[in-house]
Parts: sequence; C-alpha cells; structure tokens
Amino acid sequence: MGLLERDAQYIWHPFTQVQTAPSPLPIIRAEGVWLFDENDKRYLDVNSSWWTILHGHGNAYINQAIKDQLDQLDHTLFAGITHPKAVEIGERLVKKAGGHFSKAFFSDNGSTAVEVAIKTTIQYWHNQGIPKRRFLAIEGAYHGDTFGAMSVGARDVFNRPFERFFFDVEYLPYPTKENKAEVIEMAAELFGSGEFAGFIFEPLVQGAAGMRIYDREILNKLIGLAKNNNVLTIADEVMTGFYRTGSMFATDQIAESPDFMCLSKGLTGGIMAMGLTITTQKIFDTFLDDDFAKGMLHGHSFTGNPIACASACASLDLLEKQDTLNKVEWLTQKHVEFVEEHKDHPAVRSIKSIGTILSIELEIGEGSSYFSNLRTKAYEYFVQNEVLLRPLGNVIFLNPPYCINEEELQFVYGKVKGFLDQL
Ligand SMILES: *Cc1c(COP(=O)(O)O)cnc(C)c1O
Repeated sequence: MGLLERDAQYIWHPFTQVQTAPSPLPIIRAEGVWLFDENDKRYLDVNSSWWTILHGHGNAYINQAIKDQLDQLDHTLFAGITHPKAVEIGERLVKKAGGHFSKAFFSDNGSTAVEVAIKTTIQYWHNQGIPKRRFLAIEGAYHGDTFGAMSVGARDVFNRPFERFFFDVEYLPYPTKENKAEVIEMAAELFGSGEFAGFIFEPLVQGAAGMRIYDREILNKLIGLAKNNNVLTIADEVMTGFYRTGSMFATDQIAESPDFMCLSKGLTGGIMAMGLTITTQKIFDTFLDDDFAKGMLHGHSFTGNPIACASACASLDLLEKQDTLNKVEWLTQKHVEFVEEHKDHPAVRSIKSIGTILSIELEIGEGSSYFSNLRTKAYEYFVQNEVLLRPLGNVIFLNPPYCINEEELQFVYGKVKGFLDQL
C-alpha cells in the first residue's frame, strides 16, 4: 500500500472532516521555505507550517544545536531536576519580556501555555482566599483546544459539543474604530464588578479568527483598565511572538505590560513542541507557602524537554542576529507595498499587514464563513500553484518563514495576484 492508502487506513487528522476533505499531501522532505512531496512536487510553505517554522525548514544552526543536545542530555523529568538549556531559555526570555517579568513555566504547546496562565490566574485568587472566578475574552478569540483554552475562545462550530462544560466567560466585541468607546465602556463596567479573575487576549492580531489586526491604543486601554481594577491580564503571544508583528512580542508595541505572556509556535524555531508561560514575581509569590497545596501542582511528562529547550535557544540566537532583523524589516516593508498596490482590487474586501503577516479578506456575497466554498477553492488553487497556504474562511494570509528570499516572495505574491485576478 502507498503512503496515502496507509494514511487513510490508520490516521485521523486534526481540524478535518475526513469524509469530505481531499487527501493530505504526502510530504517527505523540506528545505528552507519548500516542502517536497513523494513525487518531488514542491510547495512554498508560506503558512510556516501552522505559524511555527520561523527560520524555515532544515536550518543548519538549529539542527546542529539539536544534535549536540541529543548527545549531551536527551530528556529528564523537570520536577526536582534542572538543566542548563531550560535555565538558559527561561532566563533569556524572561529578560526579553522585560520590565516586571520574573518567572518562566514550561509546558508542551500553545494550548497548555494558555492553560497554565488560566490555572495560575485562578489559583492566584484562590491562594489569597479572594472569590474572583470570571474571565473576560474577546469575541472571535482562539486560545487553543484544551478545555480551559476552549472556554476562553470563541463559542463556535469548533467547540459546540463542549460548550456546556465551559466555565464562565464574558466576551468583549471585537474592537474596531467604530465601537471603540463602547468596548472600553463595557470592559470598565465588567471589571468594575470585582468578579473578574483575568482578561485574556491575542495582542494586536487575532490569528485563527482570520488574522484580524486591531488597534494598539484600544488594547493598551483595556490592559490599563484591567490593571486598575485588579484583574490579571494574559497576553496570548503564541502566534504573535518572535517578530511576527514586527517586534519581538506584540505587546512590545504598547505601553502597558501584561501579567502573563504565553509562548509556543515559533518558540523553538518551530521544530520542537514547547510552551512557555512567563509571569511576574508578584504572582509567583502567592504560590509560596508551607502548605504544599498552594504550589503550582501542574506539569507534563515532556515539560522542559532539553532538546526543545536547545532548539529554542538556537532559534533565539538567530533572532538576535542583525540579518534576521533586517529580513523581518524587509518582509514588513514588502507587505506594506503589496497592501498599497492591492487595496483597490475588486476581489479584495480588505487588506492589511502587520510585521511579517499579510492578511487579505476576499470579497464574497454571502458573508464570511470558514466553510465557504471559496476556502476550498483558494486552498486548491494555491496547492496546484506550488504554494501551501491555508485560508481562514474567506481570508487568505501569508506569514512566511523569515528566510524567504526576494525571488520566493515574488513567486508567492505572483500567485496571490493570479488568484485575485481570476476571481
Ligand atoms: C495556535 C494557537 C494556540 C494553540 O497552540 P497549540 O500549540 O496549537 O496548542 C493558542 N493561542 C494562539 C493565539 C494560537 O495561535
């Protein structure tokens, strides 16, 4: 049996209605921005493999760091044990997060990084005997697929069967220029109730909602309001971290600083699975007690895995190189030019960019839906044209690896133009 037949026989794929989905692509190798299938057909991974592969595939520097670590120390448990690469990545990222941050807690992915922030928030209040239990989130949010992360995410078709098991969350309308005053007023009122434990948000861009880019000033106000009302703030930087929005973290672009920062996706350069939740000394201190039960009694088998930590350290080395920052700046500028050139295209309802993300909302009659035929049509068009791009509803977006060169970027832009022109 070929790979696809065996896949169909034994494998259950994520985010897929298997009955109607086309066969998966049988990818057998990757290099730089390119994925190659078993027939040696290539696809430009402009999706950065679910927004993870920051420096492209097969980066020699990260690969070497992983090999070296594998020879030195493969894996240990992380309770009662520490190791150099965990300490190094924790220290470097806490320092980069800046200001008042002080501690890093490891987990395995973006959902668990969020789960840890939510559990820490709940227990922060619990440990102090303060009855705050509600959370505030933003409409359209995506924070992951575990129960806590789903609870604070948008209540939609992705999690309908589970809804009645979710905890109590209020949602602010997605902030726009028009509803700005209303959103601020609503947040002030909710926070003023004194019932809210935490406020969670994707800073500046809602990823899964369709790479929706919103205003810095509103976010800054909302965080400020939360702080004034003693509500803990959780910045889910799982997608936005590591220069996706042009700065190291999206929250670097605003004055207020959150109480938690959740990291994953690009954290290891996208090669190893790892989550990290960064928080403050003030929060950490509420878990210190003679009573064991007041500790953070949460962990995963692969928490702080040394190979993942080594990969993250190597990725961070690359992010500190001027070459990489120049690339981010160049990509940012290219996207700005593309937006300018295409904002009046008849197939475009809206087009925006922030940092290395370019997001194009396509004009459709029926209103946007993840299941619109356009999504399937777009996906297939791009795959046939050697570009791997996963639309979100009627939104197509590019967030390529930073190693993409001029020729490859023009190749993708050309295909996007071709797609828009034939709509
Ligand atoms: C992808 C994502 C998550 C979930 O991360 P996983 O590693 O897929 O569990 C959480 N928050 C945001 C903003 C994301 O983009």
